[in-house]
Amino acid sequence: MMTDIEIAQKAEMKHIREVAAKLGISEDDLDLYGKYKAKLSDELIKKVEGNENGKLILVTAINPTPAGEGKTTITVGLGEAMGQLGKKAVIALREPSLGPCFGIKGGAAGGGYAQVVPMEDLNLHFTGDFHAITSANNLLAAMMDNHIQQGNALRIDVNRIVFKRCMDMNDRVLRHTVVGLGKRVDGVPREDGFVITVASEIMAILCLASDMKDLQERLGRIIVAYNMDNEPVTAADLKAVGAMAALLKDAIKPNLIQTLEHTPAIVHGGPFANIAHGCNSVMATKTALKLADYVITEAGFGADLGAEKFFDIKCRMNNLKPDAVVLVATVRALKYNGGVAKADLGEENLDALKAGIVNLEKHIENLQKYGVPVVVTLNRFVTDSQAELDFVKKFCEDRDCDFALANVWEQGGKGGIDLANAVLNTLENKKSNFKVLYDDSLSIKDKINCIATEIYGADGVTYSAEASKAIAKIEEMGFGNFPVCMAKNQYSLSDDPKKLGRPTGFDINIREVYVSAGAGFVVAITGTIMTMPGLPKSPAAERIYVDDDGKIVGLF
Ligand code: ADP
Ligand code: MG
Repeated sequence: MMTDIEIAQKAEMKHIREVAAKLGISEDDLDLYGKYKAKLSDELIKKVEGNENGKLILVTAINPTPAGEGKTTITVGLGEAMGQLGKKAVIALREPSLGPCFGIKGGAAGGGYAQVVPMEDLNLHFTGDFHAITSANNLLAAMMDNHIQQGNALRIDVNRIVFKRCMDMNDRVLRHTVVGLGKRVDGVPREDGFVITVASEIMAILCLASDMKDLQERLGRIIVAYNMDNEPVTAADLKAVGAMAALLKDAIKPNLIQTLEHTPAIVHGGPFANIAHGCNSVMATKTALKLADYVITEAGFGADLGAEKFFDIKCRMNNLKPDAVVLVATVRALKYNGGVAKADLGEENLDALKAGIVNLEKHIENLQKYGVPVVVTLNRFVTDSQAELDFVKKFCEDRDCDFALANVWEQGGKGGIDLANAVLNTLENKKSNFKVLYDDSLSIKDKINCIATEIYGADGVTYSAEASKAIAKIEEMGFGNFPVCMAKNQYSLSDDPKKLGRPTGFDINIREVYVSAGAGFVVAITGTIMTMPGLPKSPAAERIYVDDDGKIVGLF
């Protein structure tokens, strides 16, 4: 088997105009970025507004392990399979961040024969959206520090600045910095720090905004700091909104590319699911629903993070009603959850599978709390044994979930036909009674408690003194009705990444809480999770290069 990038580089792509035509989009409604990438025009988005919505299918997974699960791979393969069955389907994905590309995980274009292309473009600079978001973010930071320098008419308290600069890179040394060193003309010295772009509030805003007008209103509400009277100072107070919006004018438009089988893929926005809300943009999802009969979208990491936020933040705010959920698992990852070392995952081990399947069980139970029918799929690896596959199938069917094996990594759409049929069957025969997990009107602590106990399986929640104080202030400012965006490690249902399977007898520890007033949610940071990741000892970047023919090698 070739590597992901080798397969992607051998692909024969169609001109993006032909891919768009499958959705009834004419070339006039595309802003072309070369032959294989385009943005959907504002005119198109307006034109299709009155169309009926297609079905919305969310792809999520068990907790990730080093064994790999393959949500993007399944999302792409399911879209391709729908295409092979003659259905009008579109895939809606997030744009990859450079952080994981050069770190451990690699790119996010799918894998094997279930990928979106052009793979290198998507994983690297793509259409410049992240650059625009980073620039808009850092413009606001620059205007804030300049305002302080130029007399500080807003009386910003330099000890209470909450807005951070950002960069799309895993760079741990920027977590805590000092700015403004030097002479008087070099600015007011203060402690500062960076977040990774995919954790920034601007990224969340771009992904949650319904249009340019809404984007600007949300940008205006961003709280950058508090003044000497502890009142919020916003981006609107700094008169930064217009220029930020100008930087985001094109970034707000969804991007269109294709899968290896030329199924249309709308790829737009990219908040991480552990430290941000984890879903692609609302504009992309809504437009996709108008353009196709079936929209297949992925939320990041496990269902405790990505799916919870997809339902409780994205769907809640935008009145989206998901029709079905595909829950991805692998035999390898379940065995890993059952205590098998990474090196031994290739051997049949039914006992470990039985021990580890509790992780899948918890995610099934969680998803069923939202009233959406669940289809479980096993992303097939060559090492899986028949007995192992049969065991998982029966386990799922006993819990009222349709089940299908998927072999899309090896076979593309053909390997996803069973899954596509299972999804179509579920859509036809099981009604979605989607409801969010908690009410807007609950207090912030009650919302956090609800997520922690219902979804994570915690006994309760503990708060640092700082977090409790912040919550009181957020409620006093009138943001108590916002949903909560939990920042938690992705590996465990608990806030301790080492507790695998289905942990019990633990509390969730809330370290820090802040409001993203523009995004419209409250962020609760648990355990030791960081909003600026670091690189591993041997980053993937060490193995990436450009060969003599100008081809990128080593990106995966
Ligand atoms: P996720 O979206 O859940 O993070 P991806 O779909 O990006 O996962 O897949 C992660 C990696 O695992 C990719 O490099 C992909 O090629 C690989 N992968 C996915 N499915 C399989 C499979 N069935 N067999 C082998 N490798 C796979
Ligand atoms: Mg993915």
